[in-house]
Amino acid sequence: MLPTVPLADKRVDDYAEAAGTEAVERLREAARPLRGARVLHVNSTAFGGGVAELLHAQLPLMQDLGLDMTWALIEGSDDYFFVTKSVHNALQGAEIPWTAHMRDVYWDRIRANAHELRDGFDFVFVHDPQPAALSTVLEEDGRLTGRWLWRCHIDLSAPFEPVWQFFEPIVDRYDAAIFTAVEYARPGLSHPVLAFIPPSIDPLSAKNIPLSDETTRKVLAGYGIDPDRPIVTQVSRFDPWKDPLGVIDAYRVARERVPGLQLVMAGSLAHDDPEGMRYLELTEQHRDGEPDIHLLTNLQEVGNVEVNAFQRAAEVVVQKSVREGFGLVVAEGMWKGRPVVGGDVTGIRLQIEDGVSGFLVDSVKACAERIVQLHDDPDLRKRLGAAARERVRERFLCLREIEDYLRLMARLA
Ligand code: UDP
Repeated sequence: MLPTVPLADKRVDDYAEAAGTEAVERLREAARPLRGARVLHVNSTAFGGGVAELLHAQLPLMQDLGLDMTWALIEGSDDYFFVTKSVHNALQGAEIPWTAHMRDVYWDRIRANAHELRDGFDFVFVHDPQPAALSTVLEEDGRLTGRWLWRCHIDLSAPFEPVWQFFEPIVDRYDAAIFTAVEYARPGLSHPVLAFIPPSIDPLSAKNIPLSDETTRKVLAGYGIDPDRPIVTQVSRFDPWKDPLGVIDAYRVARERVPGLQLVMAGSLAHDDPEGMRYLELTEQHRDGEPDIHLLTNLQEVGNVEVNAFQRAAEVVVQKSVREGFGLVVAEGMWKGRPVVGGDVTGIRLQIEDGVSGFLVDSVKACAERIVQLHDDPDLRKRLGAAARERVRERFLCLREIEDYLRLMARLA
């Protein structure tokens, strides 16, 4: 069997306060027909990035609802993760070389992983392109059992066609294909049931629970950040789609009007993201020794509590992505009642209603202007922050996402 990730112990009932008792009851009712179902989730990493975050949040709760949950990781290699990161970029629109060698690396690893996969699951959720072809190999080997669901977390609205053409027949074998937004569905898919399910956050995780001011200040002080001067925070992998260089540019423009402004950029280096280190170095060069720009990673032990504190302490949370499947960090900032300034891209547009529950921007200049405007207007910060929290409560807490999956599974069963 592939390596598995241990699931934490969580109770659905504990979510009544954050999500409401009605949401808890609806969820229990949706789970009833699926009690005892054996469900496998497969992805490529247990740490770093949004998918790992979602699975840590949701699988323990599905277990508590009476389903029999397993989380397995595919075993990659440096070559394979290089290929799958290129694929990820290509599916979000980047032109890449797509060579026979790359395809061979992909198939070799998938075959080896398929060989290790145990049978006997009623439902198998496969996340993103990395492990997508597992079902193809199992079908060829006559070992495909249960219902297979492909969960796509990336922005597929304008993929680099040669790479999508490779994946299209792979995805077309699934029983269901789940996208974050209707904009991401691809016209060529004929077989799978299509479902549109936005991601969500766990209000009780260490990343999102309330923190005392004292803890927040202590965390900031530990990283040399001054809690008494204004802070702008962006939390995200060091990746061109997250535009960390643009965030620094916007910060520099804003700081001319907000003396003492600090920028905190925290990003984990995910196990399946070989570009992260190189992009961190580029960002470090762009920072150019500026002491009020704090570039932090998990190498400096930035974990969930630290991310929580950096988002909470921010006067403005920024997520200046130029492509974004969803952007959990946006919902995380909004849930903390922070005004979020986000890139005007599909994943973030799903969350922020411009001018109501945050701001959408499409340039460095616009981003800087919104930061300054929010700095100058505490009432506006409060108003947008309150609307943001309410929007997350209604739409982007994990009970809603779990319920969406349960209803889809019941439909497929
Ligand atoms: N994250 C983190 N530490 C970091 C950077 C990111 O814990 O240093 C978390 C972040 O809080 C969020 C997830 O990783 O929960 C990133 O998900 P998102 O959907 O924003 O982006 P992705 O990395 O999946 O593109």
